[in-house]
Amino acid sequence: MQITYFDNNATTKVAPQVLAKMNEVYQLPLNNSAIHHYGRFATKFIEDARKEVKKFLNAQNYEVIFTSSATESTNMLFYGLDVKKIIVSKIEHASVYSCRPQGKEVSEIKVLKNGVVDLEDLKFQLETISDPNFLVSVMFANNETGALQPVEEIAKLVHQKGGLFHCDIVQGVGKIPLDLEKINADFASISAHKINGPQGVGALLMRKGLDIKPMIVGGKQEKSKRAGTTNTAGIAGFGEACKVSTTKIAEYENVKKLRDYLESEIKKISGDNVRIFCEETARLPNTCFVALKNCDAQTQLINFDLNGICVSAGSACSSGTIAGSRILAAMEVELAFSSSAIRISLSPENTQEEINKFVQVWKEFYERIKK
Ligand code: PLP
Repeated sequence: MQITYFDNNATTKVAPQVLAKMNEVYQLPLNNSAIHHYGRFATKFIEDARKEVKKFLNAQNYEVIFTSSATESTNMLFYGLDVKKIIVSKIEHASVYSCRPQGKEVSEIKVLKNGVVDLEDLKFQLETISDPNFLVSVMFANNETGALQPVEEIAKLVHQKGGLFHCDIVQGVGKIPLDLEKINADFASISAHKINGPQGVGALLMRKGLDIKPMIVGGKQEKSKRAGTTNTAGIAGFGEACKVSTTKIAEYENVKKLRDYLESEIKKISGDNVRIFCEETARLPNTCFVALKNCDAQTQLINFDLNGICVSAGSACSSGTIAGSRILAAMEVELAFSSSAIRISLSPENTQEEINKFVQVWKEFYERIKK
């Protein structure tokens, strides 16, 4: 059976150019801590990748610390930054939301029904702060709904109060143009496997002049910020993925057309029984988070899977649990819809034929359950 992959917010296929680059690196015994020929060779691959990451994000004024994932990047910041208070939004990815270092007070910003962080609630919380020793963390785009967050405005509010701002940019990168200088974030977390790069590689971007204590200690790799032999091939692949991604951003216009067509077709079929979350909110062009009233997400996933279509129920990290989506709960979506939400996340590789197949499978399923 031909498999249709509609789960690109969970992970993406490694691009051929990335594979070729990693294969080149894997031919050699490269450890950038060594001072011999191969050590210098490793350093060249790593520093080239660092330049690519900076170029990709307009981040010339940032340090790039390579890590194993965006999850590690955020953890290393939350644990290593010398602040007493952290404010996160209720719709952050688990890697941010669940990161609660001991001794640091964490509070949560509410979210509006349209899936956007409530700026009034943030302003209210900032007014009560007297010590500027704090960090606010809000994502660029939500991984489930795709809703874009007002991160530039948030950075401004946080800086007016003397605090620092971290932005989880994992889902925005590669899909819409993203400029760290413009966002004015002090820190950002990014992951290679969401942009056709390898799994097991990420980075924390940190504005020059700022500092954190390392979470992983040992050798002096990554300017003593992250010990452990550097993942030369993965990092070189990450650099290549940034290059590939830059050329692919324009293709997301067509991805949006496919997504919009899919949504209009399923609305025609299921009418009021279907709800598309954040439909009226500015959101990622590839993401459709949709619920079929009172039809649990697992049943829908199994049906799509039997028909060779890969979709997911909310974030991959929470799949397998029967609870409704935490994000939809924060948006006050009633359980009849929040427990029946599935996420379709497209890529430029997807075709009109695949969308037609999805719509057909949806239609057959809907007619079956309607009886
Ligand atoms: N942040 C967001 C918004 C994500 O969607 C994900 C992965 O799903 C992560 C962070 C974690 O990324 P990683 O898999 O690199 O740890």
